[in-house]
Amino acid sequence: MVEALQKIFAERDIAYAEVIPFSEVSVLFPRKIAQLSFTPQSVIIFAIPYYAGEFDKRNLSRYAVAKDYHFFFRTFSDEVKNELQKLYPTADFAAFADNSPIDERAAAAKAGLGMLGMHSLLITEKYGSYVFIGEFLTSIPYDKIGTLASFGMLECEKCGLCLKSCPKKETCLSALTQKKGELTRDEKDEIASLGSVWGCDICQEVCPHSRNAEITPIAYFKEDLIAHLTPETVENMSEDEFAHRAYSWRGKKTILRNLLLFDQP
Ligand code: SF4
Ligand code: SF4
Repeated sequence: MVEALQKIFAERDIAYAEVIPFSEVSVLFPRKIAQLSFTPQSVIIFAIPYYAGEFDKRNLSRYAVAKDYHFFFRTFSDEVKNELQKLYPTADFAAFADNSPIDERAAAAKAGLGMLGMHSLLITEKYGSYVFIGEFLTSIPYDKIGTLASFGMLECEKCGLCLKSCPKKETCLSALTQKKGELTRDEKDEIASLGSVWGCDICQEVCPHSRNAEITPIAYFKEDLIAHLTPETVENMSEDEFAHRAYSWRGKKTILRNLLLFDQP
């Protein structure tokens, strides 16, 4: 069974996948757990690498260069769930990514996929912190699945570079780029000095563990890339194209407002 499970992830270029007992994870939203049709006993947790390499010009956070990963995750989790169901026909599974009822970062670190850095992100050996975390809660008892792999021990050296380099410790600038409505003069200046119209990667970029991150092997994150946005790019996107970008949930208005804070192109 373990080999079959490993194969399911390996075939989809997921190098980091592991199982952890549900009793060892922190539940952040008990109501979501109560709404499940089963009692979770284990968590199959994995890291999805998205780093697409460097670009001559980029004014978006790295995670937002490819199309929105939620679309990838929907297809991916449906496919994997089908495979899991074949292996464990009577078991139940529920997939989550970022809207999870559990503390995903802590669970991923506890499962051994990597470590939590001082910037509180998961860092994997191959892909640094440029990974999305996803998981299946399942009714299968942990001892019926077993350990999938061992990824070696990573240590955050606590060099503090991530914290020292952060331009805005009180309110993450990433959140500021996503703020709706009018910005104050100071907020506009902060976004303009950041050089990014969506998200902030500074604490990740300076981390020695992310500097040599490998490019993702997953095709979805290497296709349809837009690393540098201009107002024209946004305005010329069809509704459907725009809906597939990571910055669409705030609407065109917010991203256009941010773009207009910069000298173009
Ligand atoms: S920059 Fe240094 S302190 Fe921060 S996560 Fe990386 S190794 Fe740890
Ligand atoms: S994303 Fe940017 S603003 Fe937010 S904590 Fe990291 S360095 Fe600071």
